[in-house]
Amino acid sequence: MKVNHFQYAEALFNKINKLIKREIKLMEVCGTHTNVISASGIRSRIDDKLRLLSGPGCPVCVTAQKDIDWIIELARTNKVAIATFGDLLKVPGTKSSLAKEKTAGADIRIVYSCLDALKYAYNENKTVVFIGVGFETTAPTIGATIIKAHENKIKNFLVLPLFKLIPPALRVIASHPRLKIDGFILPGHVSTIIGQKPYQFLVDEFDKPCAITGFEPIDILEGIYLILEQIKDNKPKIAIQYQRSVNENGNITAQNIMQRVFEVTDTEWRGLGQIEQSGLDFRKEFKRYDVREYFDIKVSQISKTSCRCGDVLLGVIIPKQCNLFAKVCNPSNPVGPCMVSTEGACAAYYKYER
Ligand code: SF4
Repeated sequence: MKVNHFQYAEALFNKINKLIKREIKLMEVCGTHTNVISASGIRSRIDDKLRLLSGPGCPVCVTAQKDIDWIIELARTNKVAIATFGDLLKVPGTKSSLAKEKTAGADIRIVYSCLDALKYAYNENKTVVFIGVGFETTAPTIGATIIKAHENKIKNFLVLPLFKLIPPALRVIASHPRLKIDGFILPGHVSTIIGQKPYQFLVDEFDKPCAITGFEPIDILEGIYLILEQIKDNKPKIAIQYQRSVNENGNITAQNIMQRVFEVTDTEWRGLGQIEQSGLDFRKEFKRYDVREYFDIKVSQISKTSCRCGDVLLGVIIPKQCNLFAKVCNPSNPVGPCMVSTEGACAAYYKYER
């Protein structure tokens, strides 16, 4: 008998709910998963004992406040054009945001790819600085653009490298004594680049069941089911639900580009603090494209805010548990980055789960 999507989803909900025998906490690492879970109403159809918690997979959300402040100070020098993905514009820094600086006259341009920023640099005399925010998914395309700038001897194109690597952040979460996450719904896009192997430590060292999962609601239900089966059988592994895109070794071409341009370094994450070997910096050959080589900007001490994005990104709370959620903080007046980005958990809860 042919089964349509709705019947298949219904069958998956039944199988999932039968496997939930105790309190289980799963973290969906990727912000796009959070968005799809909220938008599709998956949470409302699953037994309350299973908690789906959002993780650190929203690049704008995990960008440290001091880095936002640094970009704002760079914009205020009026010496460069800043090219950035639109999500970053409304993220509040300590005293301002890029949106406010743009209104005040700073040259800040929204681009849809790093290549757009390179085109600005090619066509103008002005120095163009691309803000390199993102994970293993974004870094290869930015690396390829830098190679292109290098080959074409474009000297007025610079990048601020704020990239983050997902596996080191998962190590922090898996080893955190308070979080006690039972399993991970692993990100499909990042895994398309890095493959399955870099997650093996979650099984070998932490006994965490995992599933690399795609982005359709059905994909997510299948991913949850694969994890619950591992919990039932007490046989953790890195399952690949998203087989139409992910393989064991990932995209070697993209990995080679990343390795040619960048080297791994320590970096600071919002909410998770400084994590060893979790960021990317320029290799010596490409250091001349690093904007920090030309601007000695110091940012002042960060003031404390009541925003609990850090706790949201760690799965300590869900957005509704933040006192500011939907009262003071909303997409028109975001207090923290998790309410700004389309991949932010607070924005997803505000839009779909109030
Ligand atoms: Fe921060 Fe707003 Fe989310 Fe609260 S609701 S954690 S203030 S972004």
